[in-house]
Amino acid sequence: MLHKVLYSYAGIATQILIQDPHFIILLDSGDGIIRDLLEENVVFPLTVPLYIFLSHGHYDHCGGLFSLLGFLRMLGQTSPVRIYYPAGSNEIKGLVNLFKSSYSDTIPFELKMCDLQPQTEIAITKEVRVVAYEMRHMGSTRSHGMLPEIPAFGYAIFKGSEKWLAYTGDTGINENLPILLEDASHAYIEATNLSAQHSEYHLNKEEAIELGRLTKNFTLVHTRK
Ligand SMILES: [Zn+2]
Ligand SMILES: [Zn+2]
Repeated sequence: MLHKVLYSYAGIATQILIQDPHFIILLDSGDGIIRDLLEENVVFPLTVPLYIFLSHGHYDHCGGLFSLLGFLRMLGQTSPVRIYYPAGSNEIKGLVNLFKSSYSDTIPFELKMCDLQPQTEIAITKEVRVVAYEMRHMGSTRSHGMLPEIPAFGYAIFKGSEKWLAYTGDTGINENLPILLEDASHAYIEATNLSAQHSEYHLNKEEAIELGRLTKNFTLVHTRK
């Protein structure tokens, strides 16, 4: 099982690939996901199940989903695709439902949508499981400022008893972050805000590095230059 950030830039896209002989997991699927997977030499159509765990409904985390599903449909993929997201992520639900209703008769793979509640555990194999942790996130736009809180999850992938990988998604400081990150063999921690810039719904570099001390190893993602 290998993990790699395919692309991550705040406000553009984030996608993290986990490859195993028996399955593929994607953590978020922003714009450019097909290109990124092809550049990684992932062979299509996939012959193993694809599990897509989305952290929240913002476009830079799920904007590539429709394209990816269309790509798999065109290639005649038959192995199943399962999409997991925080319950209440209406953008994600709407996007997948639009795909399903547009192509209902010609989707060659089983496509499952799964609303997740916090702390839900998904068994991928006997050894590998994914656990969802509630994070704290909200949108903001230049015209409307800060918007209400939205459903947002971080995910930990366990391999046996090892917390093999943790991913925060987009989040501000919250009480679940240490629980998600503690003792992770590797963690991808968002650091959207620039140094010393503080907000309720993203971490800055210093906050992310401080949280990284809880892990065995970490990389900052979703940064801006
Ligand atoms: Zn984002
Ligand atoms: Zn976001």
